[in-house]
Amino acid sequence: MSDGSIENLVVIGSGPAGTTAAIYAARANLAPLLITGYQDGGIPGGQLMTTTHVENFPGFPDGIQGPDLMDRCRAQAERWGTRLIEADVESLDLSSRPFTVTVDGRTLRTQALILATGARANRLHRPGEDTFWSRGISACAICDGATPQFRDAELAVVGGGDSACEEAVYLTKYGSRVHLIVRRGELRASRAMADRVLANPRITVHWNRQVGHLSGADWLEALHLLDAAGEPAEVLSVRGLFYAIGHTPNTRLVQEQLQLDAAGYVVVRPGGPETSIEGVFAAGDVADPQWRQAITAAASGCQAALAAERWLSHHDLAVTVAREPVDPVAADLPQPTTPVTEASFDPAALWQGGSYALRRLYHESDRPLLVVYTSPSCGPCHVFKPQLKRVLSELGGAAQGVEIDLEVDPDIAAQAGVTGTPTVQLFLRKDLKQQWRGVQQRRVVREAIEGLLAGVA
Ligand code: NDP
Repeated sequence: MSDGSIENLVVIGSGPAGTTAAIYAARANLAPLLITGYQDGGIPGGQLMTTTHVENFPGFPDGIQGPDLMDRCRAQAERWGTRLIEADVESLDLSSRPFTVTVDGRTLRTQALILATGARANRLHRPGEDTFWSRGISACAICDGATPQFRDAELAVVGGGDSACEEAVYLTKYGSRVHLIVRRGELRASRAMADRVLANPRITVHWNRQVGHLSGADWLEALHLLDAAGEPAEVLSVRGLFYAIGHTPNTRLVQEQLQLDAAGYVVVRPGGPETSIEGVFAAGDVADPQWRQAITAAASGCQAALAAERWLSHHDLAVTVAREPVDPVAADLPQPTTPVTEASFDPAALWQGGSYALRRLYHESDRPLLVVYTSPSCGPCHVFKPQLKRVLSELGGAAQGVEIDLEVDPDIAAQAGVTGTPTVQLFLRKDLKQQWRGVQQRRVVREAIEGLLAGVA
């Protein structure tokens, strides 16, 4: 912070662009504040949190999982002194200086701002979509593919880009057959990705087809396709439909404040991060309809931080901080939860993994119990787990958590009716009190547990 109340630089968004901007700004001793976002327009870490292998990011010759890459970027930003607010920005006022940012019920002021809010997945809005959302339809194959309902079932992916191809290949791990619904006669995906799809005997591509409507009873059962003329074509019996039809930039905060192009992307100086307002910079997918790669987003985050630093020093606005120690300690990366055994089970532990711990705590504990269903590649789980652990730690042992990995314990997940990850079930003395699907605000979980504790007391 510059004078106790005005920040030097606020970065909004925590994908490759936002975290890279924070790393550069922190190393320039600007003590940036990174507002990660939480549920608005995606999740902290951005689109890489819902990707599996990233094989084209330099420095990882054998590839790296998207969420792991983002954990590393964030840890690197924190290591150099970036401060984090894990919440959605409520509003932004760029009409006067310093700029005003309202977040988490607080109002902050900042001299410079980097907007790195990325883009969010599009939906089709077809009849039946609302009924079967999370009951067969998902916007994230990587998060939900491992759920028991999709095992050995026929599944479909709609889209013809790299995401659709990647998801179709990924889903062959779980489904008996994957149908790829492509609205034109060709794929938009890169050659390497398209070849992988076309060579896979478990993927059937349906060319020149659109999704008409969806039908089923409690769960999605059929996909009614339309031909190029919009006439009814095949009906596919599928239990899963995954959307991969591109993205829309997250510009809600700057509508009518910054210049946007016809598709809603922030307009920046060609080749640079400067927006229509001095001191406001944009980086990553929010300003990039063309390249949209992790590496190009990271590069533009770097440019934005350097440009912000120059702009702040040119106007003599920056108040730099001395970093202590000069060489910070090693980055703190999240560690996976190892399933406990009879020997390692601890009846008092706040957080344990595996079916043994679940059985014991479910039967023996008289405290509220959070059962957290995750899968190894689920990025939203990376986001939600630390929040849940924080709630448990804030409650000082009054409640406990068990993590169940869907890949390791699919039968338990099936018995529990779990249809995607993360799913969190809250029990008290064997009674299921509440269930949450997807990332929630920490406060929601905390209040539910406190409600149970109040009833017990
Ligand atoms: P894209 O915008 O590249 O592709 C979207 C696809 O959805 C297109 O095939 C488009 O069809 C189709 N589509 C759009 N709207 C509809 C609709 N209403 N009905 C049916 N189909 C529709 O998005 P992606 O998410 O695939 O990729 C975004 C960027 O991320 C790209 O630059 C891509 O290269 C990159 N990426 C890279 C990956 C990797 O390298 N591992 C993995 C995933 C993404 P049409 O072609 O007719 O326009």
